[in-house]
Amino acid sequence: MSVRVGIGYDLHRLETGRKLIVGGIELLFDKGPVGHSDGDVLAHALCDALLGAAGLGDIGTHFPDTDPKWKGANSLVFLEHAKKLLDEKRFTIEHVDAVVILERPKLGPHFPKMREALGKALSVAGEKIHLKAKTNEGVDAVGRGEAIACHVAATLNSY
Ligand SMILES: [Zn+2]
Repeated sequence: MSVRVGIGYDLHRLETGRKLIVGGIELLFDKGPVGHSDGDVLAHALCDALLGAAGLGDIGTHFPDTDPKWKGANSLVFLEHAKKLLDEKRFTIEHVDAVVILERPKLGPHFPKMREALGKALSVAGEKIHLKAKTNEGVDAVGRGEAIACHVAATLNSY
């Protein structure tokens, strides 16, 4: 058995009137991510971390944002697809560690629901998905509330 680690990063601009979806959960807020799909930074960075660890390219390779099929897509679908690809290549998900960077709203209270949604999409126990939240201390676009960003490290086992 061997262990593989992948990293993922994503950022979306936030605009008034868009739904704020993070980790498959809709949060009540006056702004949301601009994107071809639902703009879920956590799902996107997680998808890239999983694909990277498995040597399978990135989210754009599998779900091009030029494809009308993915317009407004629920990003959990991307994770379900990534999980199928991992299964085919005989990888299992050992652990996921993520940090979402956002000024407002507070994400911590929503982590249990996010872990459940992400775990369900990936067919893994929620305990394998560790989530953290940071603000950007008022600095740069994220700090001004103009963007949301996310970093994820994923550990896979191959068997
Ligand atoms: Zn994205």
